[in-house]
Amino acid sequence: MPTLNKKIFEIFEENTPAERRSVPVLNVYISEFKGYAYKNGDNINISASALDTYYHPRERSKTFFSTMLIHEMAHVFQWHGNFGAPGGLTEGTADYVMIKSNLYKDAYTKPGAGKKWDEGYGVTERFLEYCDSLLKGFTAKLNKKMRDKYSDSYWVELLGKPVDQLWREYKAKYGNQPQEEEYYSIGAYPAADLEY
Ligand SMILES: [Zn+2]
Repeated sequence: MPTLNKKIFEIFEENTPAERRSVPVLNVYISEFKGYAYKNGDNINISASALDTYYHPRERSKTFFSTMLIHEMAHVFQWHGNFGAPGGLTEGTADYVMIKSNLYKDAYTKPGAGKKWDEGYGVTERFLEYCDSLLKGFTAKLNKKMRDKYSDSYWVELLGKPVDQLWREYKAKYGNQPQEEEYYSIGAYPAADLEY
């Protein structure tokens, strides 16, 4: 887990302890419940039956575990404007950490997918990557701004345009293709079901 912590701080470009959320103790529990994983406070819960389902081949189960863990750990360490940030942005940012960590090895949402920028998970993650392409380190910068509160004005401050306009330009770049049915290819575990 210290390795995952390090990755998360690298991805968020939080180089000093003062920039990071202070988490004295982080517990991880594996127990029986429906779904995949969730966090409550600084506790992460991972479903034993979900791990069991993805046990074969064994390597897949390890990948599944580490990607769920880093997604949930990202929730623990990310800033979310005292829960004022849109839930979809929080989920998209956690997925962003998961993708940037290079731990995730399955099929993933395609760029340009989705109907709304704050749909969450892969849709928002791909949009954040697009915003990174407009401004290096955008996602890390946005995360830092959300330390105390969230405001739509952060998008204008960082990229000079409202988020809705950025989303329209992003969609136009990918031809506004309806890709809603293609988020997850067969065999990929549904990252969208990872719970907050
Ligand atoms: Zn989540």
